[in-house]
Order: sequence, then structure tokens, then C-alpha cells
Amino acid sequence: MTVFCAKFKTSLLCLIPFIFILFSSCNIIEKDKERLFKKSTVLMDTIVSITVVSSSRDKAEKAIDEAFRELKRLEEIMNFYSEESEVSKINRNAGIRPVKVSMDMIDIIEKAIYVSRLTEGAFDITTGPLTRVWNFHSKTVPQPTELRKILSLINYRDIIVDKKNSTIFLRKKGMLIDLGGIAKGYGADRAIEVLKKNGINSCLVAIAGDIRVSGKKPDGSPWMIGIRNPRPQKGSDDIFTSLPLTDAAISTSGDYERFFIKDGKRYHHIINPFTGYPSESTGGVSVITEEGYLSDGLATAVFILGPERGMELLKRLGYKGIFITGDLKLYE
Ligand code: ADP
Ligand code: MG
Repeated sequence: MTVFCAKFKTSLLCLIPFIFILFSSCNIIEKDKERLFKKSTVLMDTIVSITVVSSSRDKAEKAIDEAFRELKRLEEIMNFYSEESEVSKINRNAGIRPVKVSMDMIDIIEKAIYVSRLTEGAFDITTGPLTRVWNFHSKTVPQPTELRKILSLINYRDIIVDKKNSTIFLRKKGMLIDLGGIAKGYGADRAIEVLKKNGINSCLVAIAGDIRVSGKKPDGSPWMIGIRNPRPQKGSDDIFTSLPLTDAAISTSGDYERFFIKDGKRYHHIINPFTGYPSESTGGVSVITEEGYLSDGLATAVFILGPERGMELLKRLGYKGIFITGDLKLYE
């Protein structure tokens, strides 16, 4: 017995360094193993979630916090409702004088004008006066005469961008630009840029329905993005379908985000710039491109154009779209 124990003890003692090496190498593997880190916050009037793949919690958190700071900075510049924002300065000086702005503002406005050209004006950031009169809190429908007057102020061609002097000028008094239809997708692009500068190559940035992904998950699989059911029944799943994505942007525009129902009619926040009224088509549309600003702007435009014309446009441009109508018919 004692002999056995002594032998056992010796063999155990011999094993200790081996076990130690095994454990410490496990530790190194564990430490170097790539994992998912996720943080959420409220920015741009919605929930922003960033998920990154990293082997270091410190590195992941530092990168995410920096991306949040960048979004906060952009929000301050682009906020339609804050007197202090660059957008408000541009709007206050409509028809008066060009306003000196940041390069970020020049960049997003140029991108917004590009989307307007692609969509022949269905997407138009000069819909600001309409955003103002369609008040979703008081739930009142504006007078047709009021809307008619406003329509003459809506035209993206009346935004004068002077890149050399870094100024923006709105040609007509009363014009207002509202970046609400493109800001979140643009923000996702800029957040991804910050994450990449911090050495993060695989990540997901979700600003409500505007999502951009880069790379893959730690197990090598693509990111799975759920598309909301525009008319979920009580107790049923909110997700209508999901799709795998890598290195792409997806944006969803729907008539269920901000709306009111009056006399049986649904009035929502996506406004047809040619009529001044919320667009007729109902449901939701998701657009997939390689950049967030483009998906965001196109989703808003395609929603206005409706399933047939909208899908035709996306096909012509070479982008994928998924349209789910109010009666849950799927066009893709
Ligand atoms: P969400 O803000 O719910 O993500 P969208 O990206 O479709 O949805 O943007 C809708 C917002 O865009 C509106 O709240 C308004 O600020 C602005 N908007 C409404 N109609 C238009 C339009 N035709 N072109 C550009 N922006 C628009
Ligand atoms: Mg949009």
C-alpha cells in the first residue's frame, strides 16, 4: 500500500509540470480565442447595438465606445429638432445665405443627393417642411392647401453644395432639410470605419432597422439578420424571415415605425415628395447594398415607389430587395 502510494505520489509529482503546461497553454488558447462582445446604448433617438469579434475585452470595449462617440458627434450635427445642429443652421438660412459646415455634413448631403438622383426624387431630404407638418403626436392630417404650398419648396436640386468653401445653401426661403431618412445608415457606415481603425474586422452595427455587417462570426458563419413582420399578430413571432450576410448593409423602412390611424386610414412617416402625403403602399421593405447610407436612402425611396416600381428600380441598380406587403405578400 505504502509502496503504491509512494509510487503514485512520484508519478503525480512528475505529472504536475505537465498538467501546469497543459493548463497554461489552455489559458493562452482561451485568451487568444475570438469571442463576441456586444454593447447597446440609446443614440439617434433609437437603440444602437454594436457587436464585435475580438480576442480582447479591453480592445473590443474601447473600439465600441469610440464608435458610440462618433455616432453621438454625428447626431449632434444632423439633429433636425435641435436649434444648435448644423442642419438647423442650414435651414434657418434657407434663401438667405450659404452656411459653413463640416466635411461630414458635405459628405452626407452629397450622398443624399446621389440617392435622390438614383430614385428620381422619391428620396429627397428637402421633405423637411412635410416632416414638420405631419405631426405624429397630435395625429392631425394637414390641410390640402397647406400641403400644396409646401410642395413648391421640395426639390433636392435646390440644395447648393460648395465643396471648395465647405458651404451648403438652400435656394428658397422656407426650405428645410431633414436627414432622418439616411442618417442611421450613414451612421452605421461611419461606426464601421471607427471599428476598423481600432483593428476590428468582424462586426455588426445595428441602428434600429439600419444594419451593417463586416466579416463573419468567430465560428466562421455569417451574421444572421432578422426581418420584421410588418403586421405581427399578438403572440406570434416578430421576425418574418432571416438572412445570412457578410460585408453588407441592410435597411428596412416600414409604415409601422411611426404612424397613426384616422378614419380607418394609416398615416405613416414616409412621405411621397410629389404628393405631400404618406406613400400609399403599406408594409415594409428591406434593401441590401454594400453601404449603409445607400441601403437606408433606397429603402425609404423604394417604400414610396411600392413593390412593383420599387423592385424594378432595385433590379436595374443591381441591388437585392425584400418587400413584405401589409397582407404579408412577399416580393423579392
Ligand atoms: P426610419 O426612420 O423609421 O428608419 P426611414 O429610413 O424610411 O425610416 O426614414 C423615414 C424618415 O425619413 C422620416 O421620419 C423623415 O424624417 C424622412 N423622410 C420621410 N419621407 C422622406 C422622403 N421621401 N425622402 C427622404 N426622407 C424622407
Ligand atoms: Mg431610410
